[in-house]
Amino acid sequence: MESERSLCSEASLCVSFCATTARGSWMSFALFKKRRSKQLSCVGQMEETNIDDVRDKARLWQAQGKSWHFHMLTPTCALNPRKDRFAFVLENGTDHRSYVVYSEREHTQAGQELVRMLHGDNILDREEARTGGGGEKIQEILRRIEDLNDRRIPWHHHMLFPDCIFNRHEGKWNILFEDTEREDIVELLYDQEPVDDLRKIEVLYYKEI
Ligand SMILES: [Zn+2]
Ligand SMILES: [Zn+2]
Repeated sequence: MESERSLCSEASLCVSFCATTARGSWMSFALFKKRRSKQLSCVGQMEETNIDDVRDKARLWQAQGKSWHFHMLTPTCALNPRKDRFAFVLENGTDHRSYVVYSEREHTQAGQELVRMLHGDNILDREEARTGGGGEKIQEILRRIEDLNDRRIPWHHHMLFPDCIFNRHEGKWNILFEDTEREDIVELLYDQEPVDDLRKIEVLYYKEI
């Protein structure tokens, strides 16, 4: 597993435009699509399962104190290897295992349950979202999101943990925002879990679905 893991990191080395700010780095990946096929080589290691198994595994790993997280990938998502299905990805960084559930509809309930388990019950709290965090770059993203929401244009984001198979910046927390209208991907990198910034985005995301 270790050798596969380092192969993935190597395959996803990126050419990017980068501007460092006081709160982290901001990157716009115009070349992201070109690298996509390489990046998805990591996905081949995922084991297919069902959503009940995902819930059970997440609860177990949480109780065991293991490093785990998940992703909800839409058919248009740059990280999704299947363009005809939603993909619910569950990763265990402690044991280097990853699982996927493909489905015709999004498992939003499981997503809400797991996001609370991972980041705390108040991660979807609208009042809480008004405070904390809020650096320059996240504000820019939030403005774009509100504009997209107003015009009913789909967007989504990913919280990439430091050990995530999709994270090209291993060791960093990475909020990845996908704007399907502009076909643009923005990544915000952090040294610490950016729970306040994440909450601001999660609240806007679940408001729309
Ligand atoms: Zn995506
Ligand atoms: Zn991940």
